[in-house]
Amino acid sequence: MSDTNSRLRIAENWRAVVEEVRQAAASTGRDPAGIQIIGVSKYVDAATTGALVDAGCTDLGESRPQQLWQKAEFLPLAGRVRWHLIGHLQTNKVRRTLRCHPVIHSVDSDRLLQKIDDEARAQQIEVPVLVEVNVSGDPAKTGLSPDMVEALLDDFPVPPEPAGGARVCGLMAMAGWGTRPTEARHQFADARELRDHLQMKSGVPLPELSMGMSGDFAAAIAEGATMVRIGSRLFEGILEGPEHRK
Ligand SMILES: *Cc1c(COP(=O)(O)O)cnc(C)c1O
Repeated sequence: MSDTNSRLRIAENWRAVVEEVRQAAASTGRDPAGIQIIGVSKYVDAATTGALVDAGCTDLGESRPQQLWQKAEFLPLAGRVRWHLIGHLQTNKVRRTLRCHPVIHSVDSDRLLQKIDDEARAQQIEVPVLVEVNVSGDPAKTGLSPDMVEALLDDFPVPPEPAGGARVCGLMAMAGWGTRPTEARHQFADARELRDHLQMKSGVPLPELSMGMSGDFAAAIAEGATMVRIGSRLFEGILEGPEHRK
């Protein structure tokens, strides 16, 4: 597919997703402005990622820290996008990742949270983080069990000082692999209930719920998602050719 055609297709896909998110919000009485669409660009190269930004996407998600760094450095997007790291982060990659001022959705250990906090203080920035919870009960899935999330937040209750640090602002959840939408909805409800419980217990606001992907974002929105992470749906019609693939 030519470059112009793929840009047009991405713009069309973006508009369709924005509209579907709007409808999903409206059908459960929610304001669509309260739902951030994160365009998950892990499937495509930097130029194709740029086309998604040109189409109007202001938030980009990557699973791998190195990919996030490369795109953040390569794309002339300063000030136009906010990066989201949605996959596992190793502690030795925290420093460089924080230079891209991301939201980190995938905090899955005490050690990682502490490292992000230390590094954020050193860089004098505030880093919004979400704790990844495994609500599917599938041990092969990433994220902490609900009990472990609770233990982690018990040990890390304080909001950062003005000078910087990690600010825990919610939870990230994924439905189990191959889960049907009705079942996914139950899992998203579990994530929301856990969030409500933790918020009540600690008194610290946890406004963000990052949940919902291409196949199940409507169910996630119905259960209170404030961030949906949408990838393949945005690249429909352009992922067939090898030229845009990473
Ligand atoms: C790849 C990925 C997504 C996007 O999934 P799609 O089904 O392609 O929309 C969302 N969240 C995480 C954590 C991912 O790794």
